[in-house]
Amino acid sequence: MAKLKLAIYWAAGCGGCDVAILDTNEGLLKIAEIADIVLWPVATDHKYEEIEKMADGAIDICLINGGVRNSENEHMTKLLRAKSKIVVAMGACAHQGGIPGLANLFTKETVLNRAYRETPSTENPDGILPVQRFSAQEGELIIPEFYNTVLPTAAVVDVDYFMPGCPPAIHQVAAVVDIIAKGDLPPKGAVIGASDKTLCDECTRPKEDRKVKKFYRPHEIIFDNQKCFLDQGIICLGPATRGGCGNRCTVKSNMPCRGCYGPAPKVHDQGTKFLSALASVIDSNDPAEINSIVSQIADPVGTFYRFGLAASYLRRKRSNEKN
Ligand code: SF4
Ligand code: SF4
Repeated sequence: MAKLKLAIYWAAGCGGCDVAILDTNEGLLKIAEIADIVLWPVATDHKYEEIEKMADGAIDICLINGGVRNSENEHMTKLLRAKSKIVVAMGACAHQGGIPGLANLFTKETVLNRAYRETPSTENPDGILPVQRFSAQEGELIIPEFYNTVLPTAAVVDVDYFMPGCPPAIHQVAAVVDIIAKGDLPPKGAVIGASDKTLCDECTRPKEDRKVKKFYRPHEIIFDNQKCFLDQGIICLGPATRGGCGNRCTVKSNMPCRGCYGPAPKVHDQGTKFLSALASVIDSNDPAEINSIVSQIADPVGTFYRFGLAASYLRRKRSNEKN
């Protein structure tokens, strides 16, 4: 049987999804058995031009991790869509915009100022910012255009499957490779490498549905290592998040869920779903007291939409900038 052609690409992400693929260890041999890798910037030296010269649909499967934050991300995402039969948005950044999507709370000017002028570790006395074109003696240097808004992959191209997680759990990466090897692909648009339950449904920490008057960050309280975090007033996104990660935070690492597997099944907006779960644990009917309890929550947008702001109903903070 002819081997599949497989492309793996990183756009606006951190590289952790590529490491998750590497972490399948001997699973990589299985990938090599079934597929020839035609692009994988983190691990191979293929050039973009090689992809540009391919016929449309020549690549069987493309795993894209990272959303679209600049013109190179957009060009490669569109190019790989055209050249691939199947596109999988892999990881929270491609699926929902991920952590980089939180930059949608700011304009690109604010982001660039912060990164190049304001951070304590930056030495830039002349306040120089990157320019897209620069003429040097050796010729003109061009870098990608930095966009104002981070977009998930599906906002730019048609995506066949979504594989959530930051990064996807290793056992799920291996499971997806298996699905691909068997050609046993689910209906278009499906979320693969995850479960059809909420994380709470899969969590083994006993939940007593207790009401709380105060919310804590994990370092502000000595919490019970066995009981449900939310029952103890610690924000845990489990009620609004898709399961399938193997409880790697809540049970294996004794830390609350931050929501990287994206909205639970049948939920469109993870943050609003979590707000409704939060309302049900607050121990008060008095609007002023409820307001005071909720106002203790630090960084609400970064807490409720940590991985999904760019794909949420909010998408970004309002800005007059193009894109
Ligand atoms: S989903 Fe997480 S691990 Fe993957 S690229 Fe984004 S930040 Fe990195
Ligand atoms: S809220 Fe968190 S700790 Fe509680 S049951 Fe759900 S996933 Fe487990």
